[in-house]
Amino acid sequence: MTENLPLHPAPALSVVIPAYNDAQALTLFLPSLCDFLAAQPGQQEIVIVDDGSRDALAEVCRDYVSRLPENTVLRLIRLSRNFGKEAALSAGLAQAQGEAVVMMDADGQHPVAVLAEMLALYRNGADVVAAIQADRAHESRLARTLKRRFYHFMQDTHRYELKPNAGDFRLMRRKVVDALLALPERQRFMKGLYAWVGFNTVYLPFKAEVRAEGQSKFNYGSLFELALVGITSFSQKPLRWISRMGMLVSVFSLLYGCYIVVDTLFFGRDVPGWATVAAGVMFSAGLQLICLGVIGEYIGRIYEEVKQRPLYVVDETWHSKHK
Ligand code: UDP
Ligand code: MG
Repeated sequence: MTENLPLHPAPALSVVIPAYNDAQALTLFLPSLCDFLAAQPGQQEIVIVDDGSRDALAEVCRDYVSRLPENTVLRLIRLSRNFGKEAALSAGLAQAQGEAVVMMDADGQHPVAVLAEMLALYRNGADVVAAIQADRAHESRLARTLKRRFYHFMQDTHRYELKPNAGDFRLMRRKVVDALLALPERQRFMKGLYAWVGFNTVYLPFKAEVRAEGQSKFNYGSLFELALVGITSFSQKPLRWISRMGMLVSVFSLLYGCYIVVDTLFFGRDVPGWATVAAGVMFSAGLQLICLGVIGEYIGRIYEEVKQRPLYVVDETWHSKHK
């Protein structure tokens, strides 16, 4: 083991793998990845980000060093706790030194065979090759519908496209990685950031494998949280909606007020009972709370940004020796 010194020459390809309690799955995945890398020309690098795992992930990586191919260096970055996949990816991208960088899950869901196709497209000149999950049949219907709606909602501008079902499995040229790393924001909704930086992107449909072992770390709650980060950092639609809603309610109230005045003055009718008043007050109070909630959500994100805390804290890094 050596310290985290830059590699000379820079590796042709870095494979960044964020991993959280996925030691078992990683032992199943690493051999096929290494077989593939061994057959590639030039120096290769595997960057594993241990996102605060409580299992034997670090040991699995250290033990694997003896089985690495000649041309491959393994780099491990251990974060001080679990920071989440988006932060782990950022940590991996920051440490990766390859001319091209690909991000893959530790659980074997991203097939190595697709990586071969990605490299071919990259060598043909693509700056980004993004894999698109063509078949989401393994997910529940509710999850699929919600995800589809989400992508639809997120399409806020015509300047860049948030491609549905294009996730973190993507290969990027060095300049794209540098552009991503230069984005200073702390709320890292990676799928939005990929779209935002742009570059010549080729999409490659693929079918995700079933998880090699263990369970997905994402449930509806964490996906909802991620969706909120995405919406508040990439869309101002909710803010526009509430101002429109405010205008609509104001116009309606004005018309209704005129109606009451005319009704009372010309027809001399009594002011009707309290039910209308009570319902109106409660309705507008509800609307105001919703609006405050939406604004609060954005303010919360601003608060997160201005604190300027780092995205993650690195506990230790090491890499295997050049062979
Ligand atoms: N992951 C991570 N930090 C987390 C959650 C997940 O680094 O807090 C990693 C995980 O080890 C895996 C990848 O992110 O390599 C994708 O996670 P998972 O398979 O649980 O998600 P899914 O495939 O359901 O999107
Ligand atoms: Mg998975």
